[in-house]
Amino acid sequence: MSKDKVDFIAASCTDDYDPNSMPVEQARRLIRQYLTPVHDQESLPIREALGRVLAADILSPCNVPNHDNSAMDGYAFNGDDIATEIALKLIGTAFAGKPYSGKVGRGECVRIMTGAVMPDKTDTVVPQEQAQVEGESVTFMAGPKRGQHRRFAGEDLKLGQVVLSRGHLIRPADLGLVASLGMGEVSMYRSLRVAFFSTGDELTGVGQALETGQVYDSNRYTIYGMLMRLGVEVIDMGVVRDDPALLEQALITASTSADVVMTSGGVSVGEADFMKLLLEKLGQVVFWKIAMKPGRPLAYGKVGNAHYFGLPGNPVSVMVTFYQFVREALLLLMGNSHPTAIPLLSAMCVDEIKKAPGRTEFQRGILSRGAEGAWKVRLTGNQGSGILSSMSEANCFVVLAEDCANVPAGTVVQVQIMDGLV
Ligand code: AMP
Ligand code: MG
Repeated sequence: MSKDKVDFIAASCTDDYDPNSMPVEQARRLIRQYLTPVHDQESLPIREALGRVLAADILSPCNVPNHDNSAMDGYAFNGDDIATEIALKLIGTAFAGKPYSGKVGRGECVRIMTGAVMPDKTDTVVPQEQAQVEGESVTFMAGPKRGQHRRFAGEDLKLGQVVLSRGHLIRPADLGLVASLGMGEVSMYRSLRVAFFSTGDELTGVGQALETGQVYDSNRYTIYGMLMRLGVEVIDMGVVRDDPALLEQALITASTSADVVMTSGGVSVGEADFMKLLLEKLGQVVFWKIAMKPGRPLAYGKVGNAHYFGLPGNPVSVMVTFYQFVREALLLLMGNSHPTAIPLLSAMCVDEIKKAPGRTEFQRGILSRGAEGAWKVRLTGNQGSGILSSMSEANCFVVLAEDCANVPAGTVVQVQIMDGLV
């Protein structure tokens, strides 16, 4: 992608394009315009479709349920028999999976179990708790409404209707829904392949001794975790030194084996120019300084045919930029046409928060229910972008909008819950 094209697209989506301080929402919009979802498809047994994206609409081959049936254990009868006091003759039993095949005449009823087919000429069920049975006589007081406790054929899904649409991400309910149609296989987009590596001369692998000035490479582990939750195929390429030849080789290998290349480190001030030159040689890259904290430096572009995300090096920034930008981008690339945005919840902030206007902040918070049941949030303490323990301790991000300044204690703020985030 050329710089001109970037400028053109940026200008078309907003007038105040500023690559040195791009608002979060604008950067999200800009990334979205470059994403072309995978298109290869494969047929999968339904269980393997969990967390993957449907490549074709699923049409219902039948009605679900496929017959009118009872919603209760009780007695089925003809609603014409409803009177002030009802006494009916018990003539048989209908079980789930074992219908009553006879006819039910006026003044008669059939004992019926939940899920059993409504016998011919019956339309109403009185629950067993409301009935007295003596031998073949069933009586109950007035009150039943005609048609009560009867489930209709097709009330869940109708024959021929679109049950799930192409681009839908399959969740546990969907596995059951597809199974309820009797389908054993579904047509899914292929998995997205993501290759990633860490950059930095100071990085050491776990299990090695740490020399002065070195740090363990933790980013590759958080990135691995976040990618696995998203259900993509991962290619972990380890650590690459800050050496142009090695970085170039690693970027080429990554871009030829994956749909997406992700790196951490090397995009902050000082290192960015060097990385930028390399990326311009191999593809086309837009570098952004996003008006956010943490996570200001973030690169997005292409390396060969692969999409490229250059995440910052600081461990908290890695996670924040992943959740705020990469997560949605990967879901779109997986074919998910409408990725669910991470929901925002209002909560009263117990702490005072210092903040300068001009950037969106994602502080780490701990959300809990107050005594009165209302949500409240406190901060985890040190909010430095290297304090990874703040991410472990937190269960939410406190999202402070760009124009917001200091927040006094007791203010209602917006939070994004981390639990359940993929
Ligand atoms: P950089 O963006 O490369 O300038 O790195 C910014 C900060 O993040 C530095 O303190 C790095 O040591 C640290 N850092 C970079 N990569 C990693 C990594 N993979 N694991 C842990 N810390 C890292
Ligand atoms: Mg570095």
